[in-house]
Amino acid sequence: MNHIGAALSGSESFDALESGSTSKSDVTAFSCHQMTLSRSISCVGIGLHSGASVRLTLKPAAPGTGIVFRRVDLEGAPEIPARWDHVVDTTMCSVIGNADGVTVGTVEHLMAAFAGCHIDNAIAEVDGPEVPVMDGSSQPFVFLIECAGVIEQDAPRRLIEILKPVRLEDGDKMAELVPSSTFTVGFEIDFDHHVISRQRIVVELVNGTFKKEIARARTFGFARDVEKLQAAGLARGGSFDNAVVIGEDCVLNQGGLRYDDEFVRHKVLDAVGDLYLAGATIKGDFMGVRAGHNINNRLLRALFADETAWRWVTLEEDEIAVRAEIEEEDMISKPASGSYSEVVEVSTQA
Ligand SMILES: [Zn+2]
Repeated sequence: MNHIGAALSGSESFDALESGSTSKSDVTAFSCHQMTLSRSISCVGIGLHSGASVRLTLKPAAPGTGIVFRRVDLEGAPEIPARWDHVVDTTMCSVIGNADGVTVGTVEHLMAAFAGCHIDNAIAEVDGPEVPVMDGSSQPFVFLIECAGVIEQDAPRRLIEILKPVRLEDGDKMAELVPSSTFTVGFEIDFDHHVISRQRIVVELVNGTFKKEIARARTFGFARDVEKLQAAGLARGGSFDNAVVIGEDCVLNQGGLRYDDEFVRHKVLDAVGDLYLAGATIKGDFMGVRAGHNINNRLLRALFADETAWRWVTLEEDEIAVRAEIEEEDMISKPASGSYSEVVEVSTQA
């Protein structure tokens, strides 16, 4: 199957944002101001689970809006805030819904792109029940955001600071958030299949690391499970174009893998997207072991259930400057090691 069209069409500048702000396409800089898109932009793809064609339009939004999904195929174009307390299903992907039962599925790869590109405020319109899967990664959405351009807004960026460790365990699965001055997302997977087996990575999400090291990692699945999923009405749009398919002995996709450890990197991507449903960037470190959408969401629920575990903070200019200096020193002392040069292992908080 090769039926994914990524027709790009930009339109509509956002008048309210034009005064006093500068548009730029550098999505890697972490500003202390809130950010949105410079203009609207669209793409068309298919839904992974429905198999139906979906049009996605990303639009600028005012400061304080957050990320909001809008079902433009339904009367009144109902909106669903992209927030942890609106997550209604995590079986195969993260699905958000409103009180009327209107849902949007597979939001996590787009949410990861918003997080990785530091977009605070945006409207994501879809004309179907699912965000298009595109190539199974976040890269097409990063590309879309870069094509639209990003703009600083006249409002301070607020972060969710983790004040004490919050940990969720379920059998051999675990996810936790711990206080830290950094923004790292770590993951470990351990599959009883020699093509994947055990993989571990810790990534600090600054200076464009998401775009370079994580955004291109695709979702994956086992060939043996595809029939089962499709019989259950899921993954109807799944193909080699939008997922890494693992056979008995090897990856079945012609082009192979995009990263040697693409599987664990995709789990980081999913976690970044799921965590952005917190409603803001989390100032703290995340670690997941064999976790998935369900545990990621339960972790956020546990975090927000404990008022002493977190607080809102604004990021000050001088803090960004200090971080930039620290990172520069780190670069000098770190030996270059191919594609891993931007990936940092963080064992304790800085
Ligand atoms: Zn995913």
